[in-house]
Amino acid sequence: MTWDRQIILKTPQEIAIMREAGRINALALAAVREAARPGVTTAELDAVAEAVIRSHGATPAFKGYPGPYPYPATITVSINDELVHGIPSEKRRLHEGDIVSIDCGTIYKGFVGDSAFTMGIGEISPEAQRLLAVTERALYVGIEHLRPGNRVGDVSAAIQRYVERHGFHVTREYTGHGVGREMHEGPAVPNYGAPGRGVLLRAGMVVALEPMVLIGTPKTRVLPDRWTVASADGSLTAHFEHTVAVTEDGPYILTVV
Ligand code: MG
Ligand code: MG
Repeated sequence: MTWDRQIILKTPQEIAIMREAGRINALALAAVREAARPGVTTAELDAVAEAVIRSHGATPAFKGYPGPYPYPATITVSINDELVHGIPSEKRRLHEGDIVSIDCGTIYKGFVGDSAFTMGIGEISPEAQRLLAVTERALYVGIEHLRPGNRVGDVSAAIQRYVERHGFHVTREYTGHGVGREMHEGPAVPNYGAPGRGVLLRAGMVVALEPMVLIGTPKTRVLPDRWTVASADGSLTAHFEHTVAVTEDGPYILTVV
């Protein structure tokens, strides 16, 4: 998925509001992490996130988001081969050994915070552990390149190189993105690319960087619910995301507590 959306620079005052949106989003994700255990339903996790967001006077950014039909929940919960956009359900329970990706968005004072993580439920396989470690590390490798004067391709190439060096794949079909008053603004920030190419990064840009990594293939498929995206071959996947401001002082991660 790519788009030609406008790049909108943020003032320091706007970035301060986005930091608060990001903090609330991080608190919601921390509460979900705390609640995630074998037997819990994904709908219960969704309720946990929504309660945290609303308790801070903020609103869920994903609810009603346009797609095949308006997105019906606060978080996406994507289990094992599911990469992104899994819809919470009262019928879906977590099991020991699952790996679960949680993505969440928060709107606070008109600005969006967007972040995600993948965790293991109980004991997970060594391969799954390695997938989580590589994907999370790839996010920080990319963040290091979010500096004025670099180009989007520098960020994208660093993520791709890191992931592929570890024998895994990055999706070509979904990307990171600018974020602000809209959850998806320009520029698109793919997890693959060539150094020195693409949009020039400038102070005041805010982007949601989000490596999506698959063990067996870069290819994905959309499940019959028309939202959930899974690996084409059924192999495990992981997803980590932060909203990060590009500043003269370097990358400033907004979606932390
Ligand atoms: Mg997200
Ligand atoms: Mg995002």
